[in-house]
Amino acid sequence: MTPGVKPLIAGNWKMHGTLAEAAALAGAVRDGAGGLPADLLVCPTFLHVAQVAATLAGSAVAVGGQDCHPAAKGAHTGDVAAPMLKDAGAGFVILGHSERRTDHAETDAAVRAKAEAAAAAGLVPIVCVGETEAERLAGRAEAVVERQLAESLPDGFAGIIAYEPVWAIGTGRTPTEADIAAIHGTIRARLAARFGAAGQGMRILYGGSMKPGNAKAILALPNVDGGLVGGASLVAEDFLAIARAA
Ligand code: PGA
Repeated sequence: MTPGVKPLIAGNWKMHGTLAEAAALAGAVRDGAGGLPADLLVCPTFLHVAQVAATLAGSAVAVGGQDCHPAAKGAHTGDVAAPMLKDAGAGFVILGHSERRTDHAETDAAVRAKAEAAAAAGLVPIVCVGETEAERLAGRAEAVVERQLAESLPDGFAGIIAYEPVWAIGTGRTPTEADIAAIHGTIRARLAARFGAAGQGMRILYGGSMKPGNAKAILALPNVDGGLVGGASLVAEDFLAIARAA
């Protein structure tokens, strides 16, 4: 927690579900969203954004995309532009997730361009950073995260950071609480140095095997301002339980 910052629990639905399943999940999250200590966000696949946004219209649950193209429009077959996400009802977009960095060879420079496009379209970018297991074992976790922050964030960035150690995603493993607190502290210091007061209040989410059973302890750590939740966000009751732990 950071004093004065309301936590955000964000669900990254990745490439899961049918339209009917996405609508049911969104409806269940909406129905359980009252009176929570955290803001809620769900990020379905592009194809489901408009329908999920319609299901959540008028509720406290926000919708986001999982990527966007750096251009506002153009000849880019198969891509989705930030203004299209906005038009479909999204308010946020996850950028530079490690699965995008790996599957689509996304560089820090590409993530930075996408973050600029998202902001220009009126979306709040959630920029993901995090080290691989080899990098952590080599003692380079902090250096990798610092480089990703320096190179993935545009000047004037006004979004959210998600620290997601690659080796913790979908594995059931998490760093120790001390390790999470240490990296989040480093991220806070970098954000404050670069963005001043805005950096002091920027949300820094933790992601990687966050579950109802470990959420309370992780969310209580200094500079942990919420979670980016994958697997557990696909079960409404688990997702809501994590939000209640904030
Ligand atoms: P996980 O995924 O919660 O399934 O580990 C988190 C993420 O990749 O955002």
